[in-house]
Amino acid sequence: MKIIADLHIHSGFSRACSKDISIENLEKYARIKGINLLGTGDFQHPKWIQELKSKLTEDDQGILRTKTGFPFVWQTEISLMYKKDGKGRRVHHVILAPDGEVVRQITGALLKKGRIDYDGRPIFGFTSEELVDMLISISGKCIIIPAHSWTPYFGIFGSMSGFDSVEECFGEKSKHIYALETGMSADPSMMWRLSKLDKYNLVSFSDMHSFWPWRIGREATIFDIDLSYNNIFSAIKEKKGLAGTIETDPSYGRYHFDGHRNCDVCMNPSESAKNNEICPKCGRKLTIGVLHRVDELADRPEGFVPKNAVPFKKLIPLSELIANIYDLGITTKQVWEIYNKLIKEFSSEINVLMNVDEEKLKKIVHPLLAEAIISNREEKIEISPGFDGQYGFPVFKNKIKKQKSLTDF
Ligand SMILES: [Zn+2]
Ligand SMILES: [Zn+2]
Repeated sequence: MKIIADLHIHSGFSRACSKDISIENLEKYARIKGINLLGTGDFQHPKWIQELKSKLTEDDQGILRTKTGFPFVWQTEISLMYKKDGKGRRVHHVILAPDGEVVRQITGALLKKGRIDYDGRPIFGFTSEELVDMLISISGKCIIIPAHSWTPYFGIFGSMSGFDSVEECFGEKSKHIYALETGMSADPSMMWRLSKLDKYNLVSFSDMHSFWPWRIGREATIFDIDLSYNNIFSAIKEKKGLAGTIETDPSYGRYHFDGHRNCDVCMNPSESAKNNEICPKCGRKLTIGVLHRVDELADRPEGFVPKNAVPFKKLIPLSELIANIYDLGITTKQVWEIYNKLIKEFSSEINVLMNVDEEKLKKIVHPLLAEAIISNREEKIEISPGFDGQYGFPVFKNKIKKQKSLTDF
């Protein structure tokens, strides 16, 4: 069974996250998006766990279900800040757990190390090795995945406080690390350029802070398995049933290029190298992005495909296509009207983006938007790259002129 999973999400109890995130909204928008498995997010948070327990029922396969049967797996993210080899490190790790009893024990172990009630993504001062030790001693079925591996501030390979390898971060505990999250500003083809990453599987999830369809499932992992935690474990550890990932174009991510957001300075790695990584406007060091770090650590040329590589598909969220081709804000009523019209006709966003024929699309929406959906599917959309925390965006040479009613054309 093909399962499109988003296993890195947050609750409303995490910093900078929408307070309206509820199980009902998560299920509703996951179905609209075409995602059929979610992580619970923030499982150790004392209030969120209550919501999870009151609205989900866990089966003996480690799968939690809503009343209508929508499935979740136990998931959280932890932020670690510590010193190693004389350098301050800040890394985020996604954790998947096999069942509620293990979750209870992890929560107890974390509580001994610090507070867990102030943020759904709590911060601790212990090391990544200690985290692995803690989790594996509770259950060998726990999965630890370095989150958004390349982002400058909190990625395992980030330019500001990261490491140069998984082994440098986890030492001999790296044998318990099976997969890395690509993050939005990178895709598998960028990570294939590092031979030392060949032994790690690549997964992709949204890290959503709100349930809107341009956030939830914007990146996802496709499993071809019968749904159970054990099968997810084997897929992530041994690639058994790991069928692919859905990625946004890495340029769309917030840290693809180098730059300074406040100075409106955006540079590709070679331009920023020419400027000694210094901002020409303010004279301070630029925020070094993901592409730059990949270039720095890569030992293979662009385009290299390792043996047994898992395929991936690049897709920009549908709402972004509509908003940018009409030059409208993504949250506007008009963008929603067109979006909802497509969902009503074709059932889910992923179906619209991946499968629906151009002719059928043209019966429902403006031909230029139909063409944009097809170019997106063919990975031919031009993206103005993201940098220093600012998202990239699709660039359309032919925009659709605004009409009175956008859904009639
Ligand atoms: Zn994170
Ligand atoms: Zn600057």
